[in-house]
Amino acid sequence: MIAVDGPSGSGKSTAARRTAAVLGLRYLDTGAMYRALTWWLLGQQVDLTDPAAIVARLDEPVLTVVPDPAAPKIRVNGIDVAGPIRTREVSNAVSAVAAIPEVRQVLIAQQREVIAEAVAARAGIVAEGRDIGTVVAPDAPVKVYLTASEEARARRRSADLAADPAATVATIKREQADRDRRDAAQLVMAPDAVEIDTTALGLDAVVGEIVGMARGWAAVSHG
Ligand code: C5P
Repeated sequence: MIAVDGPSGSGKSTAARRTAAVLGLRYLDTGAMYRALTWWLLGQQVDLTDPAAIVARLDEPVLTVVPDPAAPKIRVNGIDVAGPIRTREVSNAVSAVAAIPEVRQVLIAQQREVIAEAVAARAGIVAEGRDIGTVVAPDAPVKVYLTASEEARARRRSADLAADPAATVATIKREQADRDRRDAAQLVMAPDAVEIDTTALGLDAVVGEIVGMARGWAAVSHG
């Protein structure tokens, strides 16, 4: 199993998904799960400044993930939410939801199930998020922590949101700084993770490094 952590715009999702495809592993985007729950709470008009109101509704939304790097899927109560969870509205609301311990408990348990299924099926998995190497799967044999300059991260996010005219680099930079502050408790580099600064690296180079680490580990552990 490979753990990929880092802040938004570090290139984590694209790199993790491509690495899984290259190595024939499953792929789990844990941020999509926090986003999906947040999307559902917004739709239900739950007050996101009220943790008790959120916790009271936690057993209603059923999240389903399909951890296939070729076609990853995320559903809430059967509804495909891959598109709506990427809006700035969700991005700006998700940290408050993710900060609630009961929310993390529920989602981390589900993430560990997806990882355990992959391990049991001898399929292997690349899981990406903020706390994979530290909390969700501290025993992961390969851990990567991706970083990039604030400017590079904001540019990537802004390009991802090209359909949203308000998503300028300056606006995204401001929103990103707010989200970093709110996510700080979750975003800790594991002491045994390898840090890769993606500011000046292309996707192929990042994937090449992670694939190299994974193959190196496999060669050592399987002789
Ligand atoms: O990775 P992404 O930017 O899609 O994650 C969305 C949000 O979900 C993060 O800003 C963070 O609040 C939360 N998150 C988390 N733990 C993870 C993954 C995401 O708290 N493992």
